[in-house]
Amino acid sequence: MLRDLSDSSLLKCKGFVDGKWINSARQERFAVRNPATSQRIAEVESLDAHDTRQAIAAAQKAMPAWQALPARERSAVLKRWFDLIMENQEDLALIMTAEQGKVLAESRGEIAYAASFIEWFAEEGKRVYGDIIPAPQTDRRALVLKQPVGVVAAITPWNFPTAMITRKAAPALAVGCAIVIKPAAETPLSALAIAELAQRAGLPAGLLNIVPTGHAKDVGDEMTQNPIVKKLSFTGSTPVGKMLMKQCADTVKRTSMELGGNAPVIVFDDANLEKAVAGAAGSKFRNSGQTCICANRILVQAGIYDAFVEKLVETVGDYRLGNGRDKESTHGPLINPKAVADVTALVEDAVAKGATIKIGGVHSTLGGCFFEPTVLTDVNQTMRLAREEIFGPVAPIFKFETEAEAIALANDTEFGLASYVYTRDIGRVWRVAEGIEYGMVGVNETAITSDVIPFGGVKESGQGREGSKYGLDDYLEMKYVCMGDLNAYDVAP
Ligand code: ADP
Repeated sequence: MLRDLSDSSLLKCKGFVDGKWINSARQERFAVRNPATSQRIAEVESLDAHDTRQAIAAAQKAMPAWQALPARERSAVLKRWFDLIMENQEDLALIMTAEQGKVLAESRGEIAYAASFIEWFAEEGKRVYGDIIPAPQTDRRALVLKQPVGVVAAITPWNFPTAMITRKAAPALAVGCAIVIKPAAETPLSALAIAELAQRAGLPAGLLNIVPTGHAKDVGDEMTQNPIVKKLSFTGSTPVGKMLMKQCADTVKRTSMELGGNAPVIVFDDANLEKAVAGAAGSKFRNSGQTCICANRILVQAGIYDAFVEKLVETVGDYRLGNGRDKESTHGPLINPKAVADVTALVEDAVAKGATIKIGGVHSTLGGCFFEPTVLTDVNQTMRLAREEIFGPVAPIFKFETEAEAIALANDTEFGLASYVYTRDIGRVWRVAEGIEYGMVGVNETAITSDVIPFGGVKESGQGREGSKYGLDDYLEMKYVCMGDLNAYDVAP
């Protein structure tokens, strides 16, 4: 499957700790499977709590020298890492498609997106400014220094196996931290490949450690209990995030949490229909619906509802499900059989409560992890898919009458990550953007992410922001320095 990599040494199956490729202390491995074929593509070392402790100790040892470097020198290493990732984009995309399933075009896109965080933070890391506060006494000065938070632990998901790592590792490394990362067990190969490139870029040993494991809880326990770790950055489901936050409380670690979403796409009667359908479909079906900012509920005003449904069904009818490596495929499989079962259960629940399947709605005849792209109407807030993150290619289209109703519906969830609104009315744009409780609002646009914007959620979707100039703050501590006794002394002749 991965025999056609131009650089086969990017395919790593061991842990990466203190600059070395290591076997697990337990001498255990876990299988990585291609979700398109269910074939085993690799056996990866399954590191445990003991190995994680070693990685954390290595990070602690490596950090002081790195932190002491001028930001420009850290930046130079990060830029080489960025260049190497882009030079190896095709191989990295092939690895990603093999273990994650997304179509190659999306994998290439993710590699460029992942690399962009490294380039961005290589630059931003030079701009960690402190502050001087006008002091309340004449013989004092009040200063604020910004310093790296300390050793960082990161736990990342399988839906963006590379970007969710660089979005954390790049700002951490740029400001002088060292980091230990546990990738998802479904997608460790993407993580290990970029670690190899970091080493080739000249990143000193111990600053970036990758702990692949089939024992997420053991590794997570070590990361959250070890007092050396000063910060945990997590991207994943809300229940696991809540549990990790509780675990971090014992040692009062700082946390950044990118958790689940329940994104509304609100389409008003005055919207540009073509663009609204294209935007909603793009957001809903990207990565086969497996992103935390995927449209979860499409809310369409009554006057445009029928036309919207017809056009969306037409758009979805043109999709071609298939192995992400095949050129004709527009959409790939779900990550594993459990994901197929979960999505099937959500559709069955909706249908039992009155939903109508306009297209799809079933496990694909391709079998395996493929689920047909689906559009549902006659849906309402009592259905599970209105409350839960669907994480699959199912688009429920809700009908609303008034702006107030749309805002209330959009806010009727504990989540608050991304949201989208389509309208040409400038007053409504402001009222809705200010009235909905989300960390991100796309107005007449659903492809809203990039390295330069602050990505993050409110309510139970998390805390902290990744990317942008604000993304550095999550890895910095503020230190106040009071300089006293500054008045002039008479100097004796
Ligand atoms: P998903 O449903 O998308 O897989 P999870 O929250 O389960 O979301 O997974 C996100 C990341 O959290 C993965 O790296 C996974 O291995 C990790 N994880 C899951 N359970 C735990 C746990 N108990 N402790 C630490 N990490 C965990």
